This record gives sequence, structure tokens and C-alpha cells, in this order.
Amino acid sequence: MPNSRDAIIQTLKDARAYVEYLDELGVETVESFGQTPTGVSVSVSAPIEQTVARISEAERSIRIGAPPQTTFFDQSPSILPGFAAPTETLDEIWQDIGDCTRCGLCEGRTQVVNTHGNRNARLMFVGEAPGADEDAQGKPFVGRAGQLLTKIIEAIGLKREDVIIGNVNRCRPPGNRQPTLEEAAICRPFLFREIAAVRPEVIVVMGNTALRNLLEIREGITRVRGQFQDFQGIKVMPTFHPAYLLRDPSKKRETWEDMKKVKAYLDSQDPKRSSN
Ligand code: URA
Repeated sequence: MPNSRDAIIQTLKDARAYVEYLDELGVETVESFGQTPTGVSVSVSAPIEQTVARISEAERSIRIGAPPQTTFFDQSPSILPGFAAPTETLDEIWQDIGDCTRCGLCEGRTQVVNTHGNRNARLMFVGEAPGADEDAQGKPFVGRAGQLLTKIIEAIGLKREDVIIGNVNRCRPPGNRQPTLEEAAICRPFLFREIAAVRPEVIVVMGNTALRNLLEIREGITRVRGQFQDFQGIKVMPTFHPAYLLRDPSKKRETWEDMKKVKAYLDSQDPKRSSN
């Protein structure tokens, strides 16, 4: 007979599996019903990613016997703390990540691949997860997709050293599969903390995984690319992932259009920082 802690963990696992099943069916938001401690009935509608993040965090807190971490897991963009005044450095975040074993991806990876680049960058790029080259070298976007990303950066008059580049997940998924909702939910709070620490002026999200994990958007990249979005007061430009451009080079023209908008926005702002 399982004890009550194990039973709650199993219930949360079942709930997450059900939400992931709804995601596969194309459901975009989940309704939850409950009661406040004072007995008032509430109904909450939350996007799938946010629901999975909350279930995962509840399970983690029960497993380790700590109170739920409501900060970066409670992802209603208007309430993320740390963005007004960064409270930690990148080094502190990376120390916290350490030799991470928070999800199963740790089993197949060679090393954790943290965000890399200019700590004062005005422009940040976010992809999905490391591939084989990144896993071997410990830096994001160093393989074929990375070489194309370097050309994209140079096309708008910048150098790779000017920008900062990261991923939603920082361990290579087996066979380069897409990270699961749970794996992304466990890892992305570190990306949010990095964004809060760097506070770039523009973030380019490349592909659906980056798009959906940064923004509460369920539409695909093809629909929203080229249209500036907002994340905590930071401009976000969705565009195609360079790996997709390698498979379909005809889409490079659209990416170029998106990047011209990024350049125009940056040029229209007073540079607040110089590159280091
Ligand atoms: N694809 C990604 O999304 N990230 C990398 O770091 C490399 C390839």
C-alpha cells in the first residue's frame, strides 16, 4: 500500500500524463477547478505549458520536501520577479544548475550546455536544446545549425561575440528528439533567470519549442514569425530555427525579413550597453 506522499506523486504524474495527452490532441488551455482555503470555488484557465510546469513543480517540491517554488515556475508574464531589478548573476545561476540531474535528460548527455555569449548583449537568441556538437563542446549552436546562425547574426552587422545564445533545454535529448513538455518545464526557469540577469533588448526565439516556452502562445512559428511579441517588457521576434532553414533553404528569405525588423528596432534604440 503506497504511503500518502507516494500516492500524491503518482496522482501528479497521472495528471501530467493526461495534460500531455491533451496537448497531443491539440488542446491549448486547461481548465482547473478548485476551492480557496476560505471555501470560494475558483476556475482557472491556463496554457498547457504552464499547467505542466506547475504540476512538475508540485511533484518536485513534494519529492524533496520543500515548499513549492512559485517564482519562475508561476509563469504569468506580468508577475515574474527579478525582471525589474536583476537579483543574481549568470555565474550564480550556473552554479545553481551545477551538474544537473533534475530530469532524465541528464542520463544521456555529456555535459550541461548553458547559455553562452556576451553578458551585456542587447540581442539574445534562444533555440531548443543542444545537439551532438553542442553536447561535445559544451556551447550552444556550434554545429551546422550554429554556423548558419553565425551567418544570420553577421547579416545584420553583428558578430557572434556581440550576442548571447541559449536554449530552452540544456541537455541533449536522445537522438535529438524534441524535449518533452515536462523536460522543458523543468529547465526553462533557468533560461528565464538568465534573461532576467542579462535583460537583452530583443530576444529572437527560433522554432516552436523556443516560441511556446517563452511566450504563452500555442500558434506555430509559421503563423507568428516576423511579428514582435512581448516577454517581460522585452521585445521577442519569433523566426524559423536554423536547422529548419538547412532543411528548407527557401525559408531563409523570411528569416532575413524577420532579422531586418530586429536590426531596425535595435538601431532605433539608444544603445544602453557597449559590448564587452
Ligand atoms: N539546435 C538547438 O536548438 N540548439 C543548439 O544549441 C543546437 C542546435
